[in-house]
Amino acid sequence: MFDNPGCHERFFSSREIMLRTIHLLRLNHIHGGYNSLESPLSAMTWDEDFVRLACIEFLVETAIFSHCQTCEPGEEPWNKDWKFVSNIPGFSESSLQCQCLYKHPSFAGKRTMTETSFQAIQRNTLFDW
Ligand SMILES: [Zn+2]
Repeated sequence: MFDNPGCHERFFSSREIMLRTIHLLRLNHIHGGYNSLESPLSAMTWDEDFVRLACIEFLVETAIFSHCQTCEPGEEPWNKDWKFVSNIPGFSESSLQCQCLYKHPSFAGKRTMTETSFQAIQRNTLFDW
């Protein structure tokens, strides 16, 4: 399913985009600008050497935002976290991480048939990936 040329190309294209993004963020930082980078907490992005190095060099502030802490009233909270790293001093203090005593339902998404929208679905209902 994931071991095909199309999947490999998307993976390496995403990596190249992230590498170039880090270069731009570093350049912005060198010239005194503030910036941040976001990706899901579980993303492979955080395992890339060049991302880890940037987090040591200048994106030193980390904040994690959990869906349950940021969703609208009445919205079902998902087991989903976003990680932000930034060079904004004190940014880490804005973190809103889940501290609930139970586990929220898993979150997953897929493109619809038109590939123009994104549909959130519970992981236990996935049969057509
Ligand atoms: Zn929670």
